[in-house]
Amino acid sequence: MKEVVDIAILPAELNNEDIILNKALRKCKCRVNHTDWQITKRSIDARQRQPLYRLRIEVYFEEQVPSRATFQSQVSNVSQKPSVIIIGAGPAGYFAALECLSQGLKPIIIERGKDVRARRKDLRQIQQFGNVNPDSNYCFGEGGAGTYSDGKLYTRSHKRGNIQSILEILVDHGSNPDILIDAHPHIGSNKLPGIISNIRETIESAGGEVLFDTKIVDFEVDNTTIKSAIDQHGNTHKGQGYILATGHSARDMFRLLFDKNIRLEPKPFAIGVRVEHPQPLIDEIQYNQRNREENLPASSYKVVSQVNEVGVFSFCMCPGGLIVPAATAKGEIVVNGMSLSKRDSPYANSGFVTAVSNEEIQTQGYTGVLANMDYQQHIESTLFSAGDGSQKAPALRMTDFVNKQMSKSLPSTSYIPGLFSAPLYDLLPKHIYNRLAQGMVAIGRKMKGFYTSEANVVGTESRTSSPIRIPRDQKTLVHPDITNLYPCGEGAGYAGGILSAAMDGQRVIRALKSHIS
Ligand SMILES: Cc1cc2nc3c(=O)[nH]c(=O)nc-3n(C[C@H](O)[C@H](O)[C@H](O)COP(=O)(O)OP(=O)(O)OC[C@H]3O[C@@H](n4cnc5c(N)ncnc54)[C@H](O)[C@@H]3O)c2cc1C
Repeated sequence: MKEVVDIAILPAELNNEDIILNKALRKCKCRVNHTDWQITKRSIDARQRQPLYRLRIEVYFEEQVPSRATFQSQVSNVSQKPSVIIIGAGPAGYFAALECLSQGLKPIIIERGKDVRARRKDLRQIQQFGNVNPDSNYCFGEGGAGTYSDGKLYTRSHKRGNIQSILEILVDHGSNPDILIDAHPHIGSNKLPGIISNIRETIESAGGEVLFDTKIVDFEVDNTTIKSAIDQHGNTHKGQGYILATGHSARDMFRLLFDKNIRLEPKPFAIGVRVEHPQPLIDEIQYNQRNREENLPASSYKVVSQVNEVGVFSFCMCPGGLIVPAATAKGEIVVNGMSLSKRDSPYANSGFVTAVSNEEIQTQGYTGVLANMDYQQHIESTLFSAGDGSQKAPALRMTDFVNKQMSKSLPSTSYIPGLFSAPLYDLLPKHIYNRLAQGMVAIGRKMKGFYTSEANVVGTESRTSSPIRIPRDQKTLVHPDITNLYPCGEGAGYAGGILSAAMDGQRVIRALKSHIS
């Protein structure tokens, strides 16, 4: 028998199993001795002056916590099975590959970038010297944009079973099991590379293949069918189906599809800046504690406002994190955020963006299927032109940003290439700037302390989601023009984040399997 009870504990009690168990047992109705127990949910409740942890506990009587078979123990060898070509080794591509193993298909993953270890050298080149390798950077390479990301595992999807299966696979490959119970699970960019190379080992040891430094530059298309995918060396790759999981930053892939008359659609997205506050300031706002007590993680926020009926909101908030240069080509400035598993940097950063519609982009003079991508690229290159040709990012104090004045000095920052004071109010398109500035003031009214001269506003947060959708049939998940092309993940417009991209990878393989069997 099992009883499920909810308890609250102080942060200082988080690692004290005796206190937790005693509190749980006091709430149980069963009076016989318990035989086992586990925590199944954990969240922080900071609504009162004293923050608390809320825990859901399962207490077992005359039975044990059920055990679970690992993902690896359930797959068999697929080396002789039908092949599936997966383009892109991001979360969508790697989880598509793992699903191939479950479905008895052989995944062949083709990735333009390098393995996680080799990729690290290219990140150092960007951080220290401003050299962006267009095939190996914060977005491209093994694990995709998910590897050196923040590793927050949240999604708006409510498909609990699917989410749980992804989290369990991550645990089977080395993630801290806490992600199975935390309300806001987080891995951290120091832990993700190891997990990703363990996933590769599972794929390869089951007979799948992973090819690095291999970029798909063309498709051989016969009427409505892809015959092969062609890489930069002219090698052809053939399979039963082609999973296109190239992410939201593969502009060359969107152009290739456009040139080959494969249907695409412009997709609304969001654009803006990244804001960075001192973490103690955010802790003071959220926890009433400038010096956080033991076991309380760096606090986060999620803010939203409407300006002229358009959303302005925080995006991908990274408590205790770092701002990173996420450009994928020379001549552009793109920032994003990440954090290490301990989230212990003295800074709190977040995207601060506003939604832009297709119609609004058209009024800026951009038309056609690739309009939104061209507009996004234009903003990134305008901000780059304001600098010295390096990855130093243009920035202002938040109050100066709103008041349209240059900052005489900037607060210290986590952004390694460095910041320089620049007139972001002139560099950003007026309609975007106006909404961001009004949104900051409006949010500052609701969240006292958010609108402050202590915060940096850094340009530009432009890769929030894909500016293009690659259409697919809702049921078969196949492209309407090409019978064996499966657009997948964030780049195709069907995911926004690690978890949803991973779930989409699983989904397309299930659709492909039912199509070919
Ligand atoms: C710094 C940063 C922090 C982030 N933090 C978080 C977070 O905390 N939580 C969260 O949920 N999300 C986060 N994200 C977003 C998340 O990483 C993406 O949503 C996710 O990675 C999308 O997965 P995907 O597989 O669809 O595409 P991607 O991860 O973009 O992968 C696409 C892959 O395709 C490869 N590719 C592209 N073109 C070709 C080609 N022609 N041939 C072969 N390969 C190609 C690329 O090299 C890349 O590896 C972050 C992103 C960044 C950059």
